[in-house]
Amino acid sequence: MKPLSLTKLISFLDGELKLSAFPGDESANGLQVEGKGSVQKVGIAVDACDYVFRVAAERSMDLLIVHHGLIWGGIRSIRGVMKKRIKTLLDAEISLYACHLPLDWHPAYGNNSRILKVLSIRKMGEFGEYHGKRIGYWGRLAHELSLKQFASLVERTLDTKATAIGFGRKVKNIGVVSGGGWSAIYDAERLGIDTLLVGEPSHSAFTLAEEMQVNLVFAGHYATETLGVRAVGEMLQRKFGLRTEFIDHPTGL
Ligand SMILES: [Zn+2]
Repeated sequence: MKPLSLTKLISFLDGELKLSAFPGDESANGLQVEGKGSVQKVGIAVDACDYVFRVAAERSMDLLIVHHGLIWGGIRSIRGVMKKRIKTLLDAEISLYACHLPLDWHPAYGNNSRILKVLSIRKMGEFGEYHGKRIGYWGRLAHELSLKQFASLVERTLDTKATAIGFGRKVKNIGVVSGGGWSAIYDAERLGIDTLLVGEPSHSAFTLAEEMQVNLVFAGHYATETLGVRAVGEMLQRKFGLRTEFIDHPTGL
């Protein structure tokens, strides 16, 4: 295939992923580091880190698309870990593109939409306000499950170890917020959601869940956030014939 111009690809991604809908995101979404002017091979990963950058360099990738980028709220200095990371990218002329909250929320490619889909939960609506925008979705299972059954479905489907905390309710109406989304519990209670599925465990959520009678399922920050970047990779492959590869670097958290 003919290489694609980086500028064209970036402006397509910015629009398709609706970056402008999230002006309050702390992540500097979009192109964070500029590499070669043309793109043939694209790496996909959850976290921008030196391991991922080195693998991308070994595999001669031109562009990396990640959920958690390098720049959060501006650059203070480029030293230590930051220097090493940026040097690896610049030496190999790899571009880095980050897409954080838009890729939790996105109705087609987002982590939360994708989690509903793979768990066969029928989407009912947005929920879970974060930085002024609802980034999660809630939906309904065709058949009620016990919390134990639901947790094992999550473990099998997302290839993870889940922690489930329940207070006797069955699972039917489920709210999903990837990553550290537990504060969506207030919205969950308001909507009558019986089960909240989020990524990272939170101690603070326990007593709230107990008093609100909302089941909690913590499926892991990493495991709930591989789906969005993978979906973007598949779309780029379909639309432009670009070679895309997922670089797995699980944290187990
Ligand atoms: Zn995250």
